[in-house]
Amino acid sequence: MKKIPFVTKEQITAIAEKYPTPFYIYDEKGIRENVRRLKKAFAWNKGFREYFAVKATPNPFILKVLQEEGCGVDCSSLTELMMSQACGFHGSDIMFSSNVTPAREYKKARELDAFINLDDITHVDFLEECAGIPETICCRYNPGGVFQLGTDIMDNPGDAKYGMTKEQLIQAFRRLKEMGAKRFGIHSFLASNTVSNDYYPTLAGILFRLAVEVKEATGVEIAFINLSGGVGIPYTPDKEPNDIAVIGEGVRKQFEEIMEPAGMGDAAIFTELGRFMLGPYGGLVTQAIHEKHTYKEYIGVDACAVNLMRPAMYGAYHHITVLGKEDAPCDHKYDVTGSLCENNDKFAIDRMLPEIEKGDYLFIHDAGAHGFAMGYNYNGKLRSAELLLKEDGSVEMIRRAETPADYFATFDFCDILKNC
Ligand SMILES: *Cc1c(COP(=O)(O)O)cnc(C)c1O
Repeated sequence: MKKIPFVTKEQITAIAEKYPTPFYIYDEKGIRENVRRLKKAFAWNKGFREYFAVKATPNPFILKVLQEEGCGVDCSSLTELMMSQACGFHGSDIMFSSNVTPAREYKKARELDAFINLDDITHVDFLEECAGIPETICCRYNPGGVFQLGTDIMDNPGDAKYGMTKEQLIQAFRRLKEMGAKRFGIHSFLASNTVSNDYYPTLAGILFRLAVEVKEATGVEIAFINLSGGVGIPYTPDKEPNDIAVIGEGVRKQFEEIMEPAGMGDAAIFTELGRFMLGPYGGLVTQAIHEKHTYKEYIGVDACAVNLMRPAMYGAYHHITVLGKEDAPCDHKYDVTGSLCENNDKFAIDRMLPEIEKGDYLFIHDAGAHGFAMGYNYNGKLRSAELLLKEDGSVEMIRRAETPADYFATFDFCDILKNC
C-alpha cells in the first residue's frame, strides 16, 4: 500500500518556520480513529480494555489523548508510573508489566493501586515483602519452544527472559491465593511486530486453554486475559496492514469455543499495544542539509540515529517520502545519513528516491512508536521536539527540543556548562 504522509510540504514548511527541524509530529485524528477501530473490534467482550504500552511513546500529551478514548496504560518503570499518575491514571487504569523489577517500582505500583503482572514466581515473595499482595494480580506465561503461526516461526519464547512455565504459574496462583489474592489475570507476549491477523487469535487460544486448566487446577477466578502487545504495522509499502476487525473476530471465536463452555465468559480481554496504536501516526521530519558524492551518493540530514535508532539498531526499514515530490519518479539511489561518527547512522541504504535537493524536507514514516522513545545522546546530540497535529489542523508543541543546558544538567562542573 502506497505510504502517504499525514502532512504536506506546505504544512511542514509553515511548521518549520516556528519549530526548526528535526522534529517528531503525531497525527491526533489518526490516533483517535485507530483506538475507535480497536474498541469496536473487541466490543463483544464486556470488560475489554487497551492498556497503551507507555514505553512506545512516553509523552503525557499523547497519553491524555488515549485516556480520552478510554485507554489505560501499561507501565514497566518508575518514571512511566509517575507520568501515568500525572495524567490521572489510577488503579485499574494501570497495568504494571515489568521484569527484573526493583522494589521501589513495586512500591510505587502498589501506591497507585495498579494491576501488577508478575514476570516470575520468585516475585510472589518479593512483592509480598516489599509492597504486599493486592487483591487482583496477574502472572506472565512463557510456553517455551518456538512460536509458530502455521508453518512460519514467529519468535523463540524458549530463549526469551520473560514469563513463567505453566507449572510455575499454577504454583504462583496457589500461593497468591493463600496470601489473599482474589482475582487473577494471565498475560503473555510471544511475538513482536506481527503483520498477521492470526497472531492474537492464536495467542488467545493458547491463553484461554491455559486459563481453563489453571482454573480447574487451582479454583481461582480468572478475571482477565492480557494479550499484551505485538500486533504490528507494515513498515514496507508492499505489506498489507493488519485488519483489527478480523483480529477481534478471531479472538472472539476462540473465546466462544474455549472460555464460554468453561463458564468463564465473564473474563475480560486486555491488550497492551504500543506499536499498533502509535506507529503509523508519528513521523520524523528532517531536512536535507548536505549532499556528498564519493563511492556512493549520500544525502546528509539534520536528524540522526539518536532521534530514531531503529534503522541503526535493527537494520529496520522506515519508508521515506520527500515532501512535495510524492509523485516524482524514484530514479536516484541514495544513502540517507545522519551526522554521528558511526557508519550505521543511516536512515536508508541504497534507497531509490526522487532527486533530493538541499532544503528538501524528508518525512520518515512509522516512527510514532519506539521512535523518539529510544532516543539517546551519543556524540552529545540533542533530542528533538515533539509536535501534535491536532484534529483542527493546528499544531501544539508537546515536548520542546533539548538544549545544551539539558545535556549538561547532570554535571556540577563550571559556569560555562551551567549557564548555557
Ligand atoms: C513492549 C511491550 C508492549 C508493547 O509492544 P508493542 O510491540 O509496541 O505492541 C506491551 N507489553 C509489554 C509487557 C511490553 O514489554
